[in-house]
Amino acid sequence: MKASNKRMLAEIEREVVYTSSLIGKRELDPRVMTAIGKVSREEFVPADLKYYAYDNGPLPIGYGQTISQPYIVALMTDLLQLEPEHVVLEVGTGSGYQAAVLSQLVKKVYTIERIEALGKDSAARLKKLGYHNVECHIGNGYEGWPAHAPYDGIIVTAAASHIPPALTKQLKPGGRLVIPLGFPDMPQELMLVEKDAQGELHTRNILGVAFVPLQEESPLAEEP
Ligand code: SAH
Repeated sequence: MKASNKRMLAEIEREVVYTSSLIGKRELDPRVMTAIGKVSREEFVPADLKYYAYDNGPLPIGYGQTISQPYIVALMTDLLQLEPEHVVLEVGTGSGYQAAVLSQLVKKVYTIERIEALGKDSAARLKKLGYHNVECHIGNGYEGWPAHAPYDGIIVTAAASHIPPALTKQLKPGGRLVIPLGFPDMPQELMLVEKDAQGELHTRNILGVAFVPLQEESPLAEEP
């Protein structure tokens, strides 16, 4: 692992301690940290920003979108409590970085992106880098990806005004959904939604976050 990636892991560990009263733990699952240590974030950021690739902050990736802050990637991944046999859905492929991290922890990652150019670039990048258990799709993640449902875990990496009903429907009993809720430029909350064995949903606020918005409409309806 590069020294810069090690430094980033140390920064994540520090921020976990700072926020321990909110997140209810002082360290994340070591498997999550190992997964993050294995992924070269520099491969997922624009060429002119590689110098900042291992800073613990979000970075622009074009089209008004961002690659999330490493601490948030780590925290959201940890909240999913993933196991090697799990199948996961990500809404908001963006750069593909979060998908690459997830791919180290589970059997299969399905990821969906509404901006065609971003989705295609990320699919090519993930393939080139050898993340063969990630499947990318261009479409509206507000509707989930019913073809491969139900999922053990669902992660939404854009802020929604409410929990999309299609996503809780596509979650297995015992499954977990992690989603930022709120509006752009307003305080948002990272939420954990657990579906119990009876299919009932239990939600918990984790902490304040800042994400780009989840678009509810299909890209084709908006963009000719
Ligand atoms: N997980 C990404 C960061 C994503 S930024 C990474 O690791 O880099 C949020 C992404 O969600 C953006 O690329 C945005 O285009 C996408 N997005 C927003 N609304 C969406 C929707 N309804 N369906 C699919 N993707 C969506």
